[in-house]
Amino acid sequence: MAIEPPTPAPTPARAPVPLGEGGEGLGSPSVSASSAFQSVPSYLALHATGELARRADAAWELLKGCTVCPQNCPRDRTRGLTGACHSGTEVIVGSWNIHRREEPPISGTRGAGTIFFGGCQARCTYCQNFWLSQMGHGIRVDCERLATMMLSLQKKGVHNIDLVTPTHFVPQILKALVIAADRGLRIPLVYNCAGYEHLHTLRLLDGVVDIYLPDAKYASNVEALRTSKMHHYVEYNRATLQEMYRQVGGLVVDEDGIAVRGLIIRHLVMPNGHAGTREVLTWIAEHLGSDIGLSVMDQYFPAYKAHNDPDLSRRLTWTEYREALDIVEDLPFENLFLQEDLTELDTTDAI
Ligand code: SF4
Repeated sequence: MAIEPPTPAPTPARAPVPLGEGGEGLGSPSVSASSAFQSVPSYLALHATGELARRADAAWELLKGCTVCPQNCPRDRTRGLTGACHSGTEVIVGSWNIHRREEPPISGTRGAGTIFFGGCQARCTYCQNFWLSQMGHGIRVDCERLATMMLSLQKKGVHNIDLVTPTHFVPQILKALVIAADRGLRIPLVYNCAGYEHLHTLRLLDGVVDIYLPDAKYASNVEALRTSKMHHYVEYNRATLQEMYRQVGGLVVDEDGIAVRGLIIRHLVMPNGHAGTREVLTWIAEHLGSDIGLSVMDQYFPAYKAHNDPDLSRRLTWTEYREALDIVEDLPFENLFLQEDLTELDTTDAI
């Protein structure tokens, strides 16, 4: 029997709270006009017409000379070769379980049904889950087993299937979804990714994914390449966010505050301005609707190889996070998820 590796570090590490809770006057997400019947996931319609299966087949073709993601590795994964993500056709799963510490509209009251995938298209030197993303841990499963995981999570009563680091397994996820939908999967998908997608892959998810939860990590291609090994991250990230917004629009929640549709962007504030927070958030405000969800995270710590990087070898200070909040307050976002407990941050500004 396979031994499950340790549970990956949750992202975000501390559940963010919506700004404005307690009546501070900020906006709130659109509330879906009705009940659970309107939160039927979009993929069911595509499944009924056979389009979901066609999308899965089209995605599988991308594995040959893999162009699933912008790394464009010239490897035929269907013949056992692997690219930068160290993945072939088998799916690598680190864990699958209920996760209660995502943003409130994702975790809700019953939790998100999180599936953490192993391997990664990126090589972040500060990755908190490096044993899973970089070291090859996780169990290897086929699409049938992945479908079973989705169904077992639904059985536990979760609000959604929260696919974490899913990009390099889009073809397998689509095939698994066909199987799972056949067998009764009826909860929406959350696509929880680094925000580094190919548009041709993303378009295969149009009408399949209801809730996008991408990162906007950097404002600088130089820093993205140096610390995450992602080429042209800024251009790909911006195109990714725009396409996701085109597909699902702003954040929509049901009467219980649970996300049924929409885009929530995450930005991790990093030490020494490494993430380019002002530029990232300003671009989002200027190019996407104020109705998106925005999660500004403070939980950076120097994991993995970050101790060797003078810029990244310490935690965030409370002043740095406060500066990020000041930037956010000048922008028109309606649905903010912030980490207001600054006591866990480093109170020493000069290190
Ligand atoms: S999914 Fe993996 S193999 Fe394919 S292009 Fe991306 S990193 Fe390379």
